[in-house]
Amino acid sequence: MISKLFRTPFSFLLLVFLINCSQETEVTATTSDAVSVEVAERAMFEGSERELIARALEIHDRVLTLDSHADTPLRMIEPGFDMAERHDPNETGSKVDYPRMVEGGLDAIFFAAFVAQDIRDDKGNSRAKTLGVQMIDAIVASAEENSDIVGIALDPEDAYNLEEQGKRAVYIAVENGYPIGDDIANVEMFYNAGVRYITLVHSSNNDLADSATDPNGPEHQGLSTFGEEVVREMNRLGIMVDVSHGSDDVFYDAIAISEAPIIASHSNARAVTDHQRNMTDDMLKLMAENGGVVQLTMLSSYLRDMPENTERETALAKLRSDSKPASEMTEAERLTMREAIREINQQYPDPSATVNHVVDHIDHIVEVAGIDHVGIGCDFDGGGGIDGIFDASEVMNITIELVRRGYTETEIQKIWSGNLMRVFREVKATAERLQA
Ligand SMILES: [Zn+2]
Repeated sequence: MISKLFRTPFSFLLLVFLINCSQETEVTATTSDAVSVEVAERAMFEGSERELIARALEIHDRVLTLDSHADTPLRMIEPGFDMAERHDPNETGSKVDYPRMVEGGLDAIFFAAFVAQDIRDDKGNSRAKTLGVQMIDAIVASAEENSDIVGIALDPEDAYNLEEQGKRAVYIAVENGYPIGDDIANVEMFYNAGVRYITLVHSSNNDLADSATDPNGPEHQGLSTFGEEVVREMNRLGIMVDVSHGSDDVFYDAIAISEAPIIASHSNARAVTDHQRNMTDDMLKLMAENGGVVQLTMLSSYLRDMPENTERETALAKLRSDSKPASEMTEAERLTMREAIREINQQYPDPSATVNHVVDHIDHIVEVAGIDHVGIGCDFDGGGGIDGIFDASEVMNITIELVRRGYTETEIQKIWSGNLMRVFREVKATAERLQA
């Protein structure tokens, strides 16, 4: 892990240092004193940079690191995909497997069984439920097959216990309430299957709630009556209510109705990057009052303002309209799709967001909501992955930047897991109270 890390930021600095040194040696003898001062200064900077990285890595190793959102179950149901194998993200597009969690020092993860929104009738609902259950089964099977390195976690304490045994913790979530259909009993079915948060809605409206990004606009003006019922049932059972992807009204409705604090499993700050999927300062403040948590996500378009790039957008739009949905593609078609995207990226590059943007958002949320209300939810395998945090093997770069900006170990521990675990415990306590 260390050698990999040093390959990224440190080796780059070393390279710059060496290039500069070789240039400097050509100057005349009269400036040699100035040059040696400069070289010495740079060496000191190198030294302190190396110390900073070493300190950050120690912190990264000591705290429980938890990523609250990965769509990896989409991969797990692909025939032949093996979580125990290390995949090359550039060749395969895959962002998470167990070897890379180990490399990145990522201790715990919520794998979301994600079902894309489709037709909302009995047939559609039952298909969605079947797919959701299939993905959960795939998560459990993958954990069982790799029980020497990972374990299924159901309670907050499970992650700490697994960490002590040297294992990664695998939590289960559902992204999109669509598989609940119109049957409230499905919420308990999912709880019994191990699900500990449900993202109420995805990119289009469903029977529970309005999406932040539905092209047709809101349908329920927030949560539907059934959506409210689902939130109460989640409270009763001990499932965290996730408002990521929901419209602003969904956030306000959920926070008003939920008896326990809520989460945004993968959302950023709108005051920093103006995107509907991000949260306004008013929402962040209310989240703090509620005791909830916003989990920062690694999507470039939610992390920095998009530079104008019409040629790129036209090319991508054409590719999308020419292809069928990813879920219906064969492996060969997916490969062709990735190749086409790679070509577009080469022709019309879109500079990725960086770890700096991520920590800018963290700084802002800390300023507005406080250190107790921010966490990390990368959205790997769901579009997440930026320069420097491209996959699970690189998540330590977040810790390095936090240390660089002066965050303490206690604060970093809260960001990496403490805050989400606090909400998780409160959600559990609320369920116990409601069931008593
Ligand atoms: Zn998502």
